[in-house]
Amino acid sequence: MHVYSDPASQHHVNELAGVESPERFPAALAGVDRAEQSGVPVEWRPCSLADEDTLAAVHDPAYLDHLREMSAAGGGYLSLDTAVGSGSWEAASFASGAACSALESSIAGETAFAIARPPGHHAGEDYGMGFCLTNHAAVAAGHALSRGLNRVAILDWDVHHGNGTQDIFYADASVLYLSVHQSPFYPGTGEAGEVGEGEGIGFTANVPLPVGSGEDLYAAAFAGVFLPVLREFGPGVILVSAGFDAHVDDLLGGMDLGSDSFGRFAALISDLSSELGATPPAFVLEGGYNLDALTESVAATMQGVGERAPSWEYSGGVRQVERSREALAPFWRSLR
Ligand SMILES: [Zn+2]
Repeated sequence: MHVYSDPASQHHVNELAGVESPERFPAALAGVDRAEQSGVPVEWRPCSLADEDTLAAVHDPAYLDHLREMSAAGGGYLSLDTAVGSGSWEAASFASGAACSALESSIAGETAFAIARPPGHHAGEDYGMGFCLTNHAAVAAGHALSRGLNRVAILDWDVHHGNGTQDIFYADASVLYLSVHQSPFYPGTGEAGEVGEGEGIGFTANVPLPVGSGEDLYAAAFAGVFLPVLREFGPGVILVSAGFDAHVDDLLGGMDLGSDSFGRFAALISDLSSELGATPPAFVLEGGYNLDALTESVAATMQGVGERAPSWEYSGGVRQVERSREALAPFWRSLR
């Protein structure tokens, strides 16, 4: 597995959000070490800055200018929880670059993980919020389209809904966005009825789950919604917005997953990618705020790739999953 990282990740300091700390970066890298020690073949790779054109494929150039200038001037605030410092522009650009490099590895036939911060999935076309400045998974999806892939899926298992990613591709049929998240919760979006608009209608799939949900409900979301829709969509690549704040020990999330759950999710997505003839998955770090849980969960995700996928089946009867299936059924035969 190729792992992309850069020390710039430690140079972004968001003093408004203590939990999204520079220490998250070495904690996540420790997870890679742990996976490597357990026998996962790891190739550490440097990454480069995402260039302006690549960022501008999904972000408004005026927003990028604003962010760069704010960072160069020493910093400022995008919202109540999202500070920008002098190292933030570089950190965000490297994080988006890492996601693009992970996508390149995927195209070359290798599973990859972009380990960087700050996270990205709350950042939209012309806004940053929720600790996020640029949207790495979205930038990588845009990069994938420019590299000739026709259909891209982004699967987001961070405990928060990725409102930024959803917004960017809401009217776009070439990028399928799938999210399972805690609800009601920050940022307040991601209802089952949010399914896209215009040409993109049907290409956003949300499964909001109640606080305290464990692997059984996640398994129902995967088997009841994500797997059938992904099989029918037939993506060229599956990008994973891999947040680990649905871990039971997380400081922000209220879910009940163990580290091993993320390994099973990774096994499932890796297995599905092969089945569909897609390139191997590219994982992009999002949230995860308990440092020990972050280390363990990164390791479990990497160990899960290539392992036997769990044979989850959906037999009905889960209210939250039923709502999402009903909302999406007009657009996907497999859900009717
Ligand atoms: Zn999160």
